[in-house]
Amino acid sequence: MAQHPRIILLGLPGSGKGTQGALIAQTWRVPIFSSGEYFRNLRREGKLPAEVAAKINAGGLVSDEDVNMIVVESFLSTQEAQAGFVLDGYPRTVAQAAFLDEYLTKQNLSLTAAVYVDLSVETAFRRISGRRVCPADGSVYNAYYSQPEREGFCNLCGAPLIQREDDREESVRTRMSTYEAMTKTLTVYYGDQGKLITVDGASAPDVVFARIQGALHDSA
Ligand code: AMP
Repeated sequence: MAQHPRIILLGLPGSGKGTQGALIAQTWRVPIFSSGEYFRNLRREGKLPAEVAAKINAGGLVSDEDVNMIVVESFLSTQEAQAGFVLDGYPRTVAQAAFLDEYLTKQNLSLTAAVYVDLSVETAFRRISGRRVCPADGSVYNAYYSQPEREGFCNLCGAPLIQREDDREESVRTRMSTYEAMTKTLTVYYGDQGKLITVDGASAPDVVFARIQGALHDSA
């Protein structure tokens, strides 16, 4: 595995790519940037523009131009991203993927791998319906596999847990179909570059992570 790995994650909402991203980041000691988390933080701080909030709540996508700019300014160009990184939720379209390639190429860099956490739509849907988040600190729990110690309350700060606005059923349906099509296109894009690593996401997080570790070592 490269000394400063640059990894992107692909997978449906609910596939566990956020969890796997955190494990990769921890293991290889690189920072992780989640575009979705970035928008949720802005919202918490009351800084998310209303039209962007409306788009996200309805399960739609923020424009490529806006997301590209945000990812570069808030993360890729910062000091912490210079020694490798994990990106979660970006790129989400071929236009974003091409932009990222171009950005890295200009610095004589390239992606190490695109890790695709493969999960069926039905399983991802069930997982999302159990997801609850802490509105105060962003911690994530799940009724199926990572319950809080006290039902309905955050382990860290005790705040009552909520369902993400865009985890409600209608939004999830829209996000799933948007994402399914886009993820497929991106797997082809990275497959053509020989960078795609596909792992079966239908197991416990540590099992999925072991598969990712194995595949990343093999690809080194
Ligand atoms: P996520 O947490 O990755 O599911 O992202 C939550 C929401 O943020 C998405 O449903 C989109 O509305 C928006 N978003 C996050 N990342 C991107 C991206 N790369 N391109 C466009 N919209 C994004």
